[in-house]
Amino acid sequence: MNDEERREAIRRSGITIAIDGPAGSGKSTISKLLAMRLGIGYLDTGAMYRSLTWYALEQGLDLDDHESVVEAANRMPLVMNPDPVSPSYFVDGVEITRAIREPRIALAIPAVSTNLLVRKWMAFEQRRRMMEARESGSGMIAEGRDITTVVCPDADVRVLLLADEEERLRRRTLELHGEATPELMESVREQITKRDTADATVSEFMTPAEGVEVVDSSGLGIEGVAEEILTLVDRNLQSRAVI
Ligand code: C5P
Repeated sequence: MNDEERREAIRRSGITIAIDGPAGSGKSTISKLLAMRLGIGYLDTGAMYRSLTWYALEQGLDLDDHESVVEAANRMPLVMNPDPVSPSYFVDGVEITRAIREPRIALAIPAVSTNLLVRKWMAFEQRRRMMEARESGSGMIAEGRDITTVVCPDADVRVLLLADEEERLRRRTLELHGEATPELMESVREQITKRDTADATVSEFMTPAEGVEVVDSSGLGIEGVAEEILTLVDRNLQSRAVI
């Protein structure tokens, strides 16, 4: 199928695509690219955790107080622009797209993302957004840690994106510093290991659940990864006889 045929099939029946993977596996780059090619929305679930962390800090909350953080989630006026070309995030009219990438947010995030009340709230909200997009004759590609398993285990296409550790480290270092010297990579190594360890306490994202396809992006260029996932998209659209 070419992209126009895929778009046409999606207009008829909608689609949900779930991509999980560890930090640096290339989830967001590939998800944005696929959302653009397929003409569907893009949901960066990590940005939702980041936005809530930003908001809870802004409100001076104790991040270990689980009840008050989930109450903050309920009243947070978060507006997300699902445009994959330039996703943007606003709370109460204030743009926080850049602020949520600051190191202070990455440092504080584990307290929020290991809060099980918050995870339940996130799963409900994320699923609602995916299903609404699918039902409206479009679709959504959502990326995170627990999308294939908790948020949308019934997604039309489910992928676990992996990459070997050194490759993930190199990508994250490039993203953060614009270059990947051995010294910079060492400083990022500690950060990444800490985050993966904290994340692993609440969701299993290094081994695929049943029915989830593993795509290993080490050594594959972005186009190679896109082609592998598009093969799965085609297979799904064909199985639903919408082409
Ligand atoms: O993907 P990103 O690095 O922006 O995610 C930031 C953090 O949000 C992760 O390290 C993880 O703690 C949390 N997260 C999560 N579940 C998701 C997405 C992100 O716990 N589905």
